[in-house]
Amino acid sequence: MRQLAASAIVLEVVDLGERDRLVTFLTAEHGKKRGAARGARGKFSRFAGQLQPLARIHLSWFERDDRDLVRISESSVERSFSSGDQLERLLLGAYLADSVVAFAQENDESATLFRLLDMVADRLVRGVEPRLAARYFEVWVLRLSGIFPVPQFCPSCERPFSDGAVLVDHDAGLVCLDCTGSVGARGDRVAASVLAVIARINRESLDALTESSPTSSVLLQVEKLCARVRRAFLGHELRSYSVMHQTLRDLP
Ligand SMILES: [Zn+2]
Repeated sequence: MRQLAASAIVLEVVDLGERDRLVTFLTAEHGKKRGAARGARGKFSRFAGQLQPLARIHLSWFERDDRDLVRISESSVERSFSSGDQLERLLLGAYLADSVVAFAQENDESATLFRLLDMVADRLVRGVEPRLAARYFEVWVLRLSGIFPVPQFCPSCERPFSDGAVLVDHDAGLVCLDCTGSVGARGDRVAASVLAVIARINRESLDALTESSPTSSVLLQVEKLCARVRRAFLGHELRSYSVMHQTLRDLP
């Protein structure tokens, strides 16, 4: 058995039995892990109030090679993700955490993903436009996972996407408009303005994007594109994503 310690971002917290909680967390050095926090359900627990999704905490834990589950021994908050009464931010936080649960590798170095999630959570706490932050995050998660790298050239004819592209139905990749006929591809049209925003997200910081934000209609199209690529990869939609949309739609 060995003891490890690292900065960690809480992804998911569920009750475990009468007294404990099961915590999924992401570290830069060791990737995604799951650990039991003993007694964390108790009122006077040393973990009280710290195990909140998207909070960054300093964690110590014990692990053994023959066990998947680690045992969390100590935690202290480095950056909270208190959302106050902002429902949209809270729902978005759950969705971002859920995306990382779906895409992060267990026990594998995840420094870039850790930095991305930490930065986006920090900006959300500081009040950056949630929908811009969410699109930034989605594009980067797909890219870091190797699923949807920045599209600049048509993979079929190798010319730049000057006039938009088509998201091919069967493999969720992009081809140019000229090539859709020749490769017999069918799918949804992706406007040049959407590709331009994705290129900006790949090139610029979230702070720079905030300075001159794309329009909400283009951001909505980026969201739809990312959702289709994600669904094609995972084979289903993330539950937290559906919950977020349904809840925001049902608001009075
Ligand atoms: Zn082409």
